[in-house]
Amino acid sequence: MDSTSGKGPGGGKGFGGGKGPGHPRRATNNCSFCHRGADDVGPVVEGPDGVYICANCVELCHNIVKQEQRRMSQSKPLFTAIPTPRQIKEFLDEYVIGQDQAKKVLSVAVHNHYKRLTHADVDDAEVELDKSNVLMIGPTGSGKTLLARSLARVLNVPFAIGDATTLTEAGYVGEEVEKILLKLLQAADFDLDAAERGIIYIDEIDKTGKTSQNVSITRDVSGEGVQQSLLKMLEGTISNIPPQGGRKHPEQQYIQMDPTHLLFIVGGTFVGLEDIIKRRLGKKLIGFGGEDEPEETAADQHKILSRVQPDDLVHFGMIPELVGRLPCMTTLTALDEESMVRILTEPKNALVRQFKRFFEMEQSDLEFTDGALRAVARRAMKRDTGARALRGIIEELLLDLMYDLPEQAEKGTFEITEEMVEDTAAPTIFAARKSQKESA
Ligand code: ADP
Repeated sequence: MDSTSGKGPGGGKGFGGGKGPGHPRRATNNCSFCHRGADDVGPVVEGPDGVYICANCVELCHNIVKQEQRRMSQSKPLFTAIPTPRQIKEFLDEYVIGQDQAKKVLSVAVHNHYKRLTHADVDDAEVELDKSNVLMIGPTGSGKTLLARSLARVLNVPFAIGDATTLTEAGYVGEEVEKILLKLLQAADFDLDAAERGIIYIDEIDKTGKTSQNVSITRDVSGEGVQQSLLKMLEGTISNIPPQGGRKHPEQQYIQMDPTHLLFIVGGTFVGLEDIIKRRLGKKLIGFGGEDEPEETAADQHKILSRVQPDDLVHFGMIPELVGRLPCMTTLTALDEESMVRILTEPKNALVRQFKRFFEMEQSDLEFTDGALRAVARRAMKRDTGARALRGIIEELLLDLMYDLPEQAEKGTFEITEEMVEDTAAPTIFAARKSQKESA
């Protein structure tokens, strides 16, 4: 400990003591907080009156202050003002194209949910408000996850996604449910209070149906078990979460999490549900001496789906208790060519905008003709994975171009045309470079 400078008391970088700024010196003093020597903990910072602090203790203090600040902010109401449903929907409009009905249902459900939380803070609440968990039914890639994620963003609450199919695959369902809660806790930076007010989205809930009703998707025998454990979480059963997400460290304390105030959004494609609804409606229509069975055009499929009742879901294979916990139901439409084009260009982080930015980084411009955008949309529709297909198609399309671009001496504007999209070959840098004539 007698090592270095011999600069009198201190030897650390000073705050006080008039030592002025400088690099931390090798100190001879111990940290006044943990009493460890500088040889052990590295440079220490000197404060007034011969007080020293090491980097570890600075970090510790920082964390303590952060926690305390959080605690203080939580004693205030969750929101200064809960956004109105209209405000929520307008925010969603910036990220999600179409799906107006789903946006409305979600906006109202979420608004009421957080109102309910504020209400729960009032002690002498006479009316107990039920939770408004949401079920979203709609094709793959139509924006269900995006809606849930965007909601968490507008409300600035922690968000986690779980997949009901991984729950099915797991040998022990309970552990998987805990993992979703752990994800939420991680998203909240291990701030339990914040996590307990977050949003959880559970995808592919339809794959947990217990029986098969003339539906051609494979069902898992353990599906009902998964539904039961999800139900427990929805009902607010307190879970013990191992902090590292495993049971390998028995010495670790379990974190107890209460899901009572969580908002659950559950999504699924429910392939074949239309048939169940149609059968029900068909019977009624016949009963009333009405028209024939509803037509089966693509647009009408959604109309039929939007008339879904809880019973139809039970028929589909969902356990009634779980359906009962999902009082807000909404359906999403399959995306048509026009919506796909809008998705490519309009949202804040639209794909075309993202790729344009890459080109800007190379002092170049990227343009798509209207025809090219429509052709990309058509190609995506063929893949039957909704808007999810768009990124892959654009990546594929621009691969050769992006491969060559950074080495191009000649920068400029590159234009993707309909022909380039429809040809299987990706556009080359020479083909895409806008000719003088075109750009003039
Ligand atoms: P799912 O309905 O299967 O949950 P996702 O929300 O995960 O679909 O959509 C996949 C991707 O497709 C999203 O990340 C988003 O980029 C895009 N997308 C899907 N639907 C829309 C939509 N309505 N508006 C904007 N983008 C969308």
